[in-house]
Amino acid sequence: MRRLSLLVLASFLFAPLRAADPPRLPNLVVFLVDDMGVMDTSVPFLTDMEGKPVRHPLNELYRTPSMERLAARGTRFSQFYAMSVCSPTRLSILTGQNAARHRTTNWINPWENNAGPQGPPDWNWQGLKRGDTTLAGQLRERGYRTLHVGKAHFGPEGSEGADPAKLGFEVNLAGRSIGAPGSYYGENHYGALGKRARSAVPGLEAYHGTDTFLTEALTLEANKLLAESVKGGRPFFLYLAHYAVHSPFEPDPRFAAHYADSGLSEKAQAFATLIEGMDKSLGDLLDQLEALGVAENTLVLFLGDNGSDAPLGDPHAVACAAPLRGKKGAHYEGGMRVPFIAAWAAPDPGNPWQKRLPIAAGGVQGQVANVTDMFPTLLGLVEAMPDPDKHPVDGRPLGRLLAGRRDPERPEQFLMHYPHCPHRSNYFTVWRDGDWKLIHHALPEIPAQGGSIQFDGGRYELFHLKDDLSEQRNLADAEPEELRRMVVGMRTELDRMKALPPVDAEGRPILPELP
Ligand code: CA
Repeated sequence: MRRLSLLVLASFLFAPLRAADPPRLPNLVVFLVDDMGVMDTSVPFLTDMEGKPVRHPLNELYRTPSMERLAARGTRFSQFYAMSVCSPTRLSILTGQNAARHRTTNWINPWENNAGPQGPPDWNWQGLKRGDTTLAGQLRERGYRTLHVGKAHFGPEGSEGADPAKLGFEVNLAGRSIGAPGSYYGENHYGALGKRARSAVPGLEAYHGTDTFLTEALTLEANKLLAESVKGGRPFFLYLAHYAVHSPFEPDPRFAAHYADSGLSEKAQAFATLIEGMDKSLGDLLDQLEALGVAENTLVLFLGDNGSDAPLGDPHAVACAAPLRGKKGAHYEGGMRVPFIAAWAAPDPGNPWQKRLPIAAGGVQGQVANVTDMFPTLLGLVEAMPDPDKHPVDGRPLGRLLAGRRDPERPEQFLMHYPHCPHRSNYFTVWRDGDWKLIHHALPEIPAQGGSIQFDGGRYELFHLKDDLSEQRNLADAEPEELRRMVVGMRTELDRMKALPPVDAEGRPILPELP
């Protein structure tokens, strides 16, 4: 039985339902978690050869009952890719374009152009600009109330992109140029008091001096905005982008006792509490959709923005995302494989929008998909796609996959291009094609600081993911024909997207050379 708030009850009393009206546009929610990888959850995403989900030890560590609730109502993906760091993924969600095309290929340092030594000079440090085609802008034109709550990270300090209200969002709460919160604590005014004041989270003054954790404050505010939107009779697009679970790893006291005897380090315990607080937020949001009586007409897309940053083990080992190798920022699967769940908040086969986009309940989809697919999926559903001549889109609609079918026309491919340094991995490009994965390292070794960098053709890693999910056996030498085919594919895709490579000391581009 749906719970009805007084608000909704009142609307029934004073404004009789008009059954003949066309169905209201569906509400749309993107629930984005910062730095959450595919293994940071009690929901098993990875599957066996038959496509059945398999539990791994990390699934026993984390507590995410609300994700379990959402996964039971919808379909989750075992091979969903994001870019390996924040801003590239965030721009891809809002534009439907691969980072190689929109050219924000690195996280945006708010205060200093971080192309890095010999990174492409024309990379898009400025991020999104007023007038750019965005998911929010298209939906606003379609009649949506577009709500931004949480972390933005779409442009540097002082730029147009620093303010989501200039990018198609009607409301911006708590979003600015920063990629990490000053603090999660209301007692610290979310960073305004203390050493990290430059990264203070704005717009939450009502909670300053209280014990309201940042994740909770954002959830309370998001739920208020939803109630307002329903009361006003307008469909909403909510982009709720939590600062959690990004560092600083400050423990959420509400959940600390769950991990006190875990044997984990203090940081790892704090990370687990950030995950659990995020999950409570998801549950509170689902409760609110039900209380407002709009759950059947609301589509929720849940995801992480890059691989896990859990403070467990060596960054390039099979550790924090085990059985995947690597973590946030890395060229390995742990750097870019993220959780993705799509669900109608309350399944109802009679709802006309659910008929238009049926989603298999409890489904697990094994085809390769990525963050650029969200844009055409949402805009296709409500017929608000932009003119492809003016705004090319790399993603493809997820409709068939959500219905629990295979999409034979969808290539099993993904390009991830990172022409920057220094970071956890430097100057690399990843090309996934079918069961194969190629990594091009433009530099064999990370250069010492200072002086120009001598590129020497780089090196390749080639993995067969179906047989070697943990990326332990580099087959670049053993499979020369496959290597060559993959390099040709990578170069073709880089060309198609007009990707910007790193440059040598004379400014000449460094491209993957044919072996
Ligand atoms: Ca991130």
